[in-house]
Amino acid sequence: MQLSLPHAFPRFSFPFFSRPAGLPKTPTRPGLAVWGLALWLASVGNLPLWQRIDALGGSPAQRLLLIAGMGAVIAAALVVLLSLLAWRRVFRPVATGLLLVTAFNTHFMWQYGVVIDPTMLANALHTDAHEVRDLLSWTMPGTVLLVAGLPLWALWRRPLALRRAWPQAGRNLLGALSALALLVAAALLSYQGLASLMRNHKDLRYMANPLNTVYAGARLAVDQLPRQVRPLQPVGEDAKLGASYARQQRPPLLVLVIGETARAQNFGLNGYARQTTPGLARWQAQGDLVNFGQVSSCGTNTQVSLPCIFSPLTRTQGGDKTPEHENLLDVLQRAGLAVLWVDNQSGCKGVCDRMQHANANDHAVPGLCEGSECFDAAMLDGLDQRIDALDPQRRARGVVLVMHQMGSHGPAYAHRAPENRKLFLPECRSIRLSDCPHEQLVNAYDNSIAYTDSFLDQTLQWLKARADRGSEDTGLIYVSDHGESLGENGLYLHGVPYAIAPVQQTRVPMVGWFSKGLQQRAGLSMGCLRGRADQPISHDHIFHSVLGLMDVQTRVHQPALDALLPCGSAA
Ligand SMILES: [Zn+2]
Repeated sequence: MQLSLPHAFPRFSFPFFSRPAGLPKTPTRPGLAVWGLALWLASVGNLPLWQRIDALGGSPAQRLLLIAGMGAVIAAALVVLLSLLAWRRVFRPVATGLLLVTAFNTHFMWQYGVVIDPTMLANALHTDAHEVRDLLSWTMPGTVLLVAGLPLWALWRRPLALRRAWPQAGRNLLGALSALALLVAAALLSYQGLASLMRNHKDLRYMANPLNTVYAGARLAVDQLPRQVRPLQPVGEDAKLGASYARQQRPPLLVLVIGETARAQNFGLNGYARQTTPGLARWQAQGDLVNFGQVSSCGTNTQVSLPCIFSPLTRTQGGDKTPEHENLLDVLQRAGLAVLWVDNQSGCKGVCDRMQHANANDHAVPGLCEGSECFDAAMLDGLDQRIDALDPQRRARGVVLVMHQMGSHGPAYAHRAPENRKLFLPECRSIRLSDCPHEQLVNAYDNSIAYTDSFLDQTLQWLKARADRGSEDTGLIYVSDHGESLGENGLYLHGVPYAIAPVQQTRVPMVGWFSKGLQQRAGLSMGCLRGRADQPISHDHIFHSVLGLMDVQTRVHQPALDALLPCGSAA
């Protein structure tokens, strides 16, 4: 590609950098500047990242492959970005900004071990002069010189042969598209290693300079600002408790268990070749538990699925987008019920912001918590006291308790079940999933499913005991947030875009258990539910089914999306 325009150049250069007399310098070709800068930023500009990956262990070849794969992805992404910004009077100032941002990021990563995410950037933007002075040190100029010195000199030494608007637009687009193709190829080639690495070391994604800062800036601009302008849309403002509450002997207590990374096909209840759900199978045999066999998730990752499960919108209506509406819990609370969220994961993604919430590791439960991580059964510890502590007036009407599991969160499946509860051995202990024999990987995953079964079994025993002693009419709905790939078609983990996601990532297990008291109260026929249990439903149905089951009356309740309604009498 011939990009130089030697004769046109001097008119366009910045006056203070152009040569005062004599022959004009040969301008730098924009392609060279874009690629040179991208390669420099991806390599030298990411020294802390490469040091971090190198320190994670593994063989030298594995580390080199990871660094090469990630380096290629970062470089290609930078070429896309820089190509789109290759305009006269724009490119060099922007490039200078990116170099300085990268240099300062490097300094703070080395000095303080920080990573750059939207929260960090927002904090940085609110830093005052006093705090800035505290952060300055004599090593900073050295780092800035090392990271930004040479490329800044090269960038400003000569002008760039950039054309006028229209011809340049074509070139920029072509440059960006070819780099995009490279980016996709590099990402696909190194998907397995990188996906596993990223899931286990989430901070790494915030170490990719200067994309971390570009991303954080864009997120702050797009996400935070409009939300401040546009407040959360209220939902179900007319919500009130139905007639069943006026005549109730006991309040209802519904537990919603939100599973993590459990896929339907490894669930014993769904006909899996090995019995991974012996506990639930016993409850099913007793007749009060129904297994929903054809349930689709809303997304293929927690960030999308979790808010969507509680959203009044269906997936196709935008339930899978950043929530702008209140959710199921707001409606239940508004109707007058007590709502409590107990978390054993990385938080509720905004769903429980306006509710009372607690974390499993608030008090480390001996034998169930180690460090900041707990097995799911830790959520049951002290649960009676947590419920007793809820607002007494609301509690007298009824309680909805959400438990957010750690479930089968990967890639360290082996960490999800205590050693004395491993049913399937030997199991994969590595987080590099492709290193393990397939059957050991499946063993580790199935052990995590079997542990979820045991956790649900314990929860059901607790609920049954409360129902038996007449405290409440109890029930439980369990549904997983999304599935998981265990090496099928070379895919691991989850998060594949929904439209192309394999069924392993989108088909999730779901069960419902209802005490006799709750069945009576809601007029539920278990025989009818069992007969309809293999009808296809999805996360879209949770919002409406819970409102129906809890007899909360509101215009937003859509009978067509209430999976229990055909088998119940509207109370
Ligand atoms: Zn998840």
